[in-house]
Amino acid sequence: MQRIEHIYINGAFVTPHGSEWFDLFNPATEEVIGQVRLGDADDARRAIAAAKAAFPAFSRTSREQRLAMLQRMQAAMAAREDELFDAIVTEYGAPVSRARWMAAYSHQVIGEAAATLAEYAFEHSAGSARVVMKPLGVAGLITPWNSDAGFICGKLAIAMAAGCTAVIKPSEMSALQTQIVMEALHEADLPPGVANIVNGRGDVVGAQISAHPDVAKISFTGSTAVGRAILRSGADTLKRVTLELGGKSPTIVLDDADLATVMPLVVSAGFMNSGQACIAGTRILVPASRLAECEAAIVEQVRATPSGNPRDPATAIGPMVSARQWQRVQGYIRRGIEEGARVLIGGEGRPDGITRGWLVKPTVFTDARNDMTIAREEIFGPVLTIIPYRDEAEAIAIANDTSYGLHAYVLTGDSARGARVAAQIEAGRVLVNTLTHEPKAPFGGFKQSGIGRENSHYGLEAYLEPQAIVVGQL
Ligand code: NAD
Repeated sequence: MQRIEHIYINGAFVTPHGSEWFDLFNPATEEVIGQVRLGDADDARRAIAAAKAAFPAFSRTSREQRLAMLQRMQAAMAAREDELFDAIVTEYGAPVSRARWMAAYSHQVIGEAAATLAEYAFEHSAGSARVVMKPLGVAGLITPWNSDAGFICGKLAIAMAAGCTAVIKPSEMSALQTQIVMEALHEADLPPGVANIVNGRGDVVGAQISAHPDVAKISFTGSTAVGRAILRSGADTLKRVTLELGGKSPTIVLDDADLATVMPLVVSAGFMNSGQACIAGTRILVPASRLAECEAAIVEQVRATPSGNPRDPATAIGPMVSARQWQRVQGYIRRGIEEGARVLIGGEGRPDGITRGWLVKPTVFTDARNDMTIAREEIFGPVLTIIPYRDEAEAIAIANDTSYGLHAYVLTGDSARGARVAAQIEAGRVLVNTLTHEPKAPFGGFKQSGIGRENSHYGLEAYLEPQAIVVGQL
């Protein structure tokens, strides 16, 4: 039983003013595995004050100095990869193959930020003006539980690359991973106050950060509902805001696709991160003329994608992160049945033979329409919905008939046709015949999937403000 008592402020581990203890669970066994002491609004204010005090000196550091800090951070996180992997499996329930990727990503993403910093031109001329890109100030970084260490490291590294100091509010459900990140940051020997981490509740610590006048910028990854609340509370002080929110991404299987080739991609995109992925392809658009064939192929593929103990290497889908999330997913499965969709495979309850753990039966609905709740709302679990379309134009129309616009997938026997279809989809990223992550490309959503972009110079500029200086002759 691990007890996490400290938060990280001004280069030191400190006991929070907040006194609430929050239970940590192993979602595969439902057992309490630890407790974390949560900070409160006072702690958030102390962290913001530390970041504010550190900003003037840090904002004037050179590119080389910041690169050296990022390299130390990356090395410290890389040295913790195995420990982080274990925490991800234990506390989050990611299957081992996914957890290994997530643990490696947490240090690789710091390397990506360093590469962006190494190349970026902070100054250029515009007509008679000299334009200098200046860091915004204190950045508030608020992250969800579905990739805790990766989001903390990614947001912090790019904020630091820009010359901003940071206050981080991670998910309270991810305290084991956060603790490892805190220790690695301490080992990286950053100047005090540059990176501060406050465990705490969203409506307490997160709300304080998003309203505080000394915070210039918020970068938030999480639900659309909380993203809206953050935008509202940041409005009073006109905070710059990057929001990476939810999705209801379409996977379009074009009529020329070879089903044996594409179905593994369809199911992997849908059940990615145990279905707890903002970019999961959860609406499967298939040609009506090939519906029966697609249904048979997807059933076969889902049978080969078992949900179970995350430590078993054969497991493809781990448990939901919490009892609440499990109930939420069950509620959507029930709703789908009530609204008249047909369960093709899966359904309510745990997978056969499993009595403990927040595991969900991998579920696919068919005979569904795009106006059903299961096709409109983000479920955040391994639940997919097949929707038939008549022709390519209708497939594109259904794909775009959503309030979200984060991601989309197009699968086809003809890549050039796939690229043409991709260009007509309203989403921040469209993958054609691949599931490969491209860390150098902008990442973010159209419509209610968010505001702004992360990654590469797009992500760096979200922490910078251009200042134009024009010098005349008197
Ligand atoms: P959430 O929105 O409930 O919480 C995210 C973070 O915000 C947590 O740290 C939480 O404590 C904090 N928070 C909650 N209320 C707050 C408030 N009033 N003010 C400030 N902060 C507050 O989301 P979650 O349940 O942790 O994560 C799942 C959601 O995240 C899904 O909707 C998913 O789509 C989204 N997500 C998006 C991306 C992306 O990049 N677009 C990536 C991962 C997850």
